[in-house]
Amino acid sequence: MGQCQSCTGFSSELNFLRAVHNGDRETAELSLAGDPAVLLRTTFYDRCSALHVAASNGHHELLSMILIRSASPDLLNRHKQTPLMLAAMHGKIACVQKLLDAGANILKFDSANGRTCLHYAAYHGHSDCLQAILSAAQSTIVVDSWGFARFVNVSDGRGATPLHLAARQGHPSCVRNLLGNGALVCALTARYGCSGSSPLHLAARRGSLDCVRELLSWGADRLHRDTSGRIPYFVALRNKHGDCAALLNPASSEPLVWPSPLKFITELNPEAKALLEEALMEANLAREKIILKGTAHSLASPVQPEAERIDDCDDGDDASQVDDYELCCICFDQACSMEVQECGHQMCAHCTLALCCHNRPNFAASCQSAPVCPFCRSAITRLVAAKSATRLGKAARRTRSLTEGGGGSSSFRGPPSAVTALEKFDNSSDMLDKT
Ligand SMILES: [Zn+2]
Ligand SMILES: [Zn+2]
Repeated sequence: MGQCQSCTGFSSELNFLRAVHNGDRETAELSLAGDPAVLLRTTFYDRCSALHVAASNGHHELLSMILIRSASPDLLNRHKQTPLMLAAMHGKIACVQKLLDAGANILKFDSANGRTCLHYAAYHGHSDCLQAILSAAQSTIVVDSWGFARFVNVSDGRGATPLHLAARQGHPSCVRNLLGNGALVCALTARYGCSGSSPLHLAARRGSLDCVRELLSWGADRLHRDTSGRIPYFVALRNKHGDCAALLNPASSEPLVWPSPLKFITELNPEAKALLEEALMEANLAREKIILKGTAHSLASPVQPEAERIDDCDDGDDASQVDDYELCCICFDQACSMEVQECGHQMCAHCTLALCCHNRPNFAASCQSAPVCPFCRSAITRLVAAKSATRLGKAARRTRSLTEGGGGSSSFRGPPSAVTALEKFDNSSDMLDKT
């Protein structure tokens, strides 16, 4: 980024700043006691204050000490960077948190690229810092006046939102976090990277399969053209990312898309959400496996399906745990991990997904009405994780992989398929109220 990376360059008399840089609290306190004016000193070239130096080096105790004596947490250096931006850039979460607690302004823009602290966290892939800033954004007065959605989607000087930067730099956890907080999946940059690109174009250009997967599952459009008229598929091909190109090829099957927002579910607790997200990713990984089969690309993804990991460490001593789990009465394939409320009926996460999610072509149709419980037809107002779902889900899978041995016919080799379940619902119109 060509910006202040380390805040070095102290002139010889600046012992105080050097001590802060080195995390030498004793010397820093001594210099400060001798001459309180050293607090106003800055580094020679970048004009970084002691706050900047402590924040970018992750010295959170020194940072606290300096914050108490400073008039403002938002001092600016030569590039109009705040200490918060530098802490977010270097992934110093403790310092990010301390600065936020001290009321640091999250709506400052640097002079080099017109970026906020959220851009810095997204660009450098520090998901924990990103989350801390987003949490602060939900409560600060600044964002009350500005609006949370506007803050999440703020453009830098070249029209790039934090989501564009995370996708361009290949940081899937930041991409997921931003999308979950309302980042617009289809926004075009003004000039960043290639001319007028969507986050999907930038992930394709980077060749980040994990980012492409995240963006597709949040509804990114494979037919979206950049301002040069190119679809993401073409961008991936041109940059020789064959695996991304295979997934982005409009001729390949559509991914499952997470409903955004979950309008019809007033409360989705974090545990239920995590289960559904996991099922959605598994379904899309299964789809990818089919698409990438026969190409030269295997799935080099950290998110490998659970069933495969279990096969790797098969020690066969868990079978006693599985006697009492409830098998899903829709697919007869998975453990019941989700409970519909208020009726209390249970089904697996994959069948729940099939009720709530959709393949992209059905986007409009599927979002029209709330899904109903397939057992009693009452409207689903709330979904919770069924009791012991985590343990039972794993136990169920384990049993499957044990009993099926090396056989490959069932959905368990590739992960069980919400796509298959979706087809079941699609073929039975009274299961899912579509209009
Ligand atoms: Zn099921
Ligand atoms: Zn029911």
